[in-house]
Amino acid sequence: MHIETLAVHAAQRPDPVTGAVAPPISLSTTFERDASGAYSRGFEYSRDTNPNRAALEEAMALLEGGEAAAAFSSGMAAATAVFQALAPGDRVVAPNDAYMGVGKVLRDVFQPWGLEVAFIDMDDLAQVRSALETPTRLVWIETPSNPLLKVTDIAGVVALAKAAGAAVACDNTWCTPIFQRPLDLGVDLVVHATTKYIGGHHDILGGMVVSKADTPLFKRIREIQIQAGAVPSPFEAWLALRGIRTLPFRMRAHADHAMALAGLLAAHPAVEVVHYPGLPTHPGHDVAARQMRAFGGMLSFQVKGGRDEAMAVAARVRLFTRATSLGGVESLIEHRASVEGPHTQTPANLLRVSVGLEHPDDLIADLDQALRDG
Ligand SMILES: *Cc1c(COP(=O)(O)O)cnc(C)c1O
Repeated sequence: MHIETLAVHAAQRPDPVTGAVAPPISLSTTFERDASGAYSRGFEYSRDTNPNRAALEEAMALLEGGEAAAAFSSGMAAATAVFQALAPGDRVVAPNDAYMGVGKVLRDVFQPWGLEVAFIDMDDLAQVRSALETPTRLVWIETPSNPLLKVTDIAGVVALAKAAGAAVACDNTWCTPIFQRPLDLGVDLVVHATTKYIGGHHDILGGMVVSKADTPLFKRIREIQIQAGAVPSPFEAWLALRGIRTLPFRMRAHADHAMALAGLLAAHPAVEVVHYPGLPTHPGHDVAARQMRAFGGMLSFQVKGGRDEAMAVAARVRLFTRATSLGGVESLIEHRASVEGPHTQTPANLLRVSVGLEHPDDLIADLDQALRDG
């Protein structure tokens, strides 16, 4: 089945009671036992599972090509559950440009808790190889990275990790299974902030862990989901599943529009450099072309000059909203160093763009005028 068909039909069944085609939202926290005391309908208490969360997990597992999935209340709750499933003393190798929240939780929560963490340049396989000379439990990858859109060779990291006996988790938030299927490349766990493209409308928080197989590591993640209880509400699960139905078409448009904007920016005299893996000049272009079906809806660029010039461009846009986050229908622009704080490595003249679903000509005209009027 093609992924467009899967996106529409995964976990899609008319309601057996009413025939409703769109699924009802089951707000009940508790479910009836049979006279025998059993729960023949599969639901007992909503933190354990509930119809909306079960349907979302089933759909995400199908889309990623995994056997099992666990939904969380945010992307960070999903990432946290993966690290909590390890044991104090275990070693994690992670990218030094991982999503800011992931870097922070590793440093501020899990290093004090006893995880050993090595932060490396994950797009450099030589660094991966030497990091794996020390016994390692988990390699965490995220590609393309934020905000420089560096590309990690997933199959390359998987080969090194497997040889070293380490599991691999991949944050697939920016690509979604429409553009990148890490489990097909040998990754063990895929992690998502469904807050972003899966939800797709800047109106839910959610996270997901999808596992290639129902391994002991995934069983532990499932225990943490249920026992610690950082789970999405039925309404958020419902909205995330609704987002999946249109995901292939939204992703295609996000990527087409991003490519068009990258083209404008690459040729623009006010721009120093564009970071978008779809550009043949991007250092990760060949790897990206191999492992991604399209190059995604995120890009960043550096304005000629410094912080002030970049801030001035962000101040002049009219269609783009100055806001953090990504993946919704509205285009967003962000001065990334401002959000990352004083210790950021991000260039001061860099703006990150989440390219939305407005007509690309309107987006191009708006950025062009914002870059011109300096
Ligand atoms: C946003 C994001 C997260 C965290 O998701 P939240 O829902 O904000 O907790 C993790 N990884 C990536 C790549 C993200 O973009």
